[in-house]
Amino acid sequence: MSARPCRSLLALLVAVMAGHPAAAEVREIMQLAQTEPAIDEQTLVVFDIDNTLLEPVQTLGSDQWFYYLVDQGKRERRLSENKAIAEAVATWNRVQEDVIVRPVEPDTPALVRRLQERGVRIIALTARTSGAAAITERQLRSIGIDLGRNPLPRPAVREGRRPDTSQPWLGAILFLGENQTKGEALAKVVRSLPEPPSRVVFVDDKAHNTRSVDRALARLRIPVVAFRYGATDARVAAFDPAVAEVQLRWWRRILSDQAARDLDRCSSAPASSAPASSAPASSAPY
Ligand SMILES: [Mg+2]
Repeated sequence: MSARPCRSLLALLVAVMAGHPAAAEVREIMQLAQTEPAIDEQTLVVFDIDNTLLEPVQTLGSDQWFYYLVDQGKRERRLSENKAIAEAVATWNRVQEDVIVRPVEPDTPALVRRLQERGVRIIALTARTSGAAAITERQLRSIGIDLGRNPLPRPAVREGRRPDTSQPWLGAILFLGENQTKGEALAKVVRSLPEPPSRVVFVDDKAHNTRSVDRALARLRIPVVAFRYGATDARVAAFDPAVAEVQLRWWRRILSDQAARDLDRCSSAPASSAPASSAPASSAPY
């Protein structure tokens, strides 16, 4: 075979690739501080919320519990995907008022503040729904994070130039629910800005989100560094539905995971061996 067809094929391949923006690398990190070298004052930083900025202290109210509820609805009750999601959202939102949250890493709030003090613009993109907007802002404040500092330019959020008027954009948090990819949503935000950011840094615990953002911004030719953040991976993998079930049953009391495990063990043990004192005195609120 002569070299000429090969050279032509190579030239064609290079031409095709030049016209198609290559996706940037998605980086795996275990600590949020590993994002800092990629951030300067012109960077737009976009954080996911659950399992990135915060997590519940107990299993109840966690992101992993939400997806368990969706699966359970489909598997055990034969609900459609949309119905299972709608019911899981309602249950998940209802308990958020009572769950106790903490930063995923102890110094997460300090890192956010440090960036804000440098003038860096930070927003959050979450699969939470607008029904959880008020509690989400309270939870973030309870751990010392105020995303209202350094807001995006006003026209982008206040004067009809919202990224998508069908999507609730409250302060610096975009509540997407489960119906839109983060890549599509963030592309709309970036396109709505008077000036595109010099770079976007995106951090999320879910690989499909980092991939969708990476692809969407590459199409807009916006430089992006997407970090897949794995600090809560071990906890997600160790999710125990039995603990969540007990905590939901005793929801208003906010049982710790250990207390829920003890209670579950006692309630499944033969009646004669269960200590009488392990059962709460009054009837369950839920
Ligand atoms: Mg998350």
